[in-house]
This record gives sequence, structure tokens and C-alpha cells, in this order.
Amino acid sequence: MARGNIRDNVHRILDELGPNVKLVAAVKGRTAAEVEEAIQAGVTVIGHNYVQEAEAMRAQVGEEAEWHMIGHLQRNKAKTAVAIFDMIETLDSARLARALDRRGAAIDAVIPALIEVNSGRESSKTGVLPQGLDELVRVVSELENVQIEGLMTMGPRFGDPEDSRPYFRITRESFERLAGDAPAGVRMRVLSMGMSNSWRQAVQEGSNMVRIGTEIFGARPTA
Ligand SMILES: *Cc1c(COP(=O)(O)O)cnc(C)c1O
Repeated sequence: MARGNIRDNVHRILDELGPNVKLVAAVKGRTAAEVEEAIQAGVTVIGHNYVQEAEAMRAQVGEEAEWHMIGHLQRNKAKTAVAIFDMIETLDSARLARALDRRGAAIDAVIPALIEVNSGRESSKTGVLPQGLDELVRVVSELENVQIEGLMTMGPRFGDPEDSRPYFRITRESFERLAGDAPAGVRMRVLSMGMSNSWRQAVQEGSNMVRIGTEIFGARPTA
């Protein structure tokens, strides 16, 4: 895809999403200037995959947007992550949850988090397997300084985004089931699914938060 114009891309996507679906700009590999352009065009949530790069970028870009961690989070980075991000979208183990809880307690904050579900059951992917979801939700619900706000999934990558639907669907079904029958203190408010090639399908399957990089900024520069 051509780089296009960041402002036009953001306007077009926001128009199509409407008021009920949140746009997260996925900014790995982008410059602070590109991210600023997206914020000026109306992006209110920045998603980053890497703690250190996000830290540097957040210092440059300032405080106008909310920042979400969308990459795999290692426990030894929990401290920095909690200081930078407003939400962790990739909580996928009890050990990570406990590390976040300790950091939250240390700074007297409650850390908002989404549970990442490995909806495709892929051994190469992070996220809790669907069969482990309820147990992880139960464990996190008992932590005082981590607040579950919903679910996130990537799903397998397909050339044809129609093939993603079953993975979006099983995640939405878990979301709805947990919304009706979750342990006390768990919220099921955010369902984060859909990327550049699949966000329309994801929204049709119930997503209310999409994470888009390429369609806003153009193809990622290859390292
Ligand atoms: C990079 C990334 C995206 C966005 O991918 P695009 O295909 O560039 O839109 C979304 N979610 C996560 C977790 C990512 O790492």
C-alpha cells in the first residue's frame, strides 16, 4: 500500500467506524512526527508493541493521547510498562498479572488490562488459550491492582480476512459469556480485535476496538 496521507486515512477510518468503535493507531516502526500527525487528525489511542520505544516516543509526542501496550509484555518490563501505558491489552498469564499487580500496588494505581486470547490456538502466538481463559480471569479478578476491562485477540493471519471470522466469533462469544457471568470486579467493556486487513470483518463480528497501522501510515519500513 502506498504511504498515502495520514490525515486523510485517519479521517476515512474514523468516519467509517462511527462513534461506537475505538481506533487504536498501531505505531511500531513509525516516527514521532507520523504519530503526531495521526493524533492531530483525531486518533486518541496509540498502541505500541515495545516498551522502550514507546517510552521514548511518549516523551516526544506528549500527553494528548492514551497509550496501550499491544505487544507481548515480559514480566521484567512490567514496571516501565505500568509507568508508560494507560492499558495493557496483552495480559496472558497469571505470572504477568501478579507482576502488574505488584507494580500497581507500589504506585497505588489500578492497572486496566485486556486478557489476550490465542483464539487460533497457535503455538507460535502469545495469548491465553481459550480453554485457560476462565481460570485466568478468575485469578486476575482476585488481584486488587489489576482491573480486567475486556478481551483482545489477534487471530491467525490470512490473505482473505473472511477466514478470520471464526476466530473473532469465538472471542466475542467468550466476551459475551463473561459479560453475563464474570467474577465480581471483572468488566467486559472492551473487545479489541481487527487490524488493517480485517477490521471490517472484526467490527461485524462485534469488535469495539480496532488496532490499525498499515492502513493509516502505509507499509511498514522493512528493517
Ligand atoms: C502491528 C499490529 C497491529 C496493526 O497491524 P496492521 O496490519 O499494520 O494494521 C495490530 N495489532 C497488533 C498487536 C500489532 O502488533
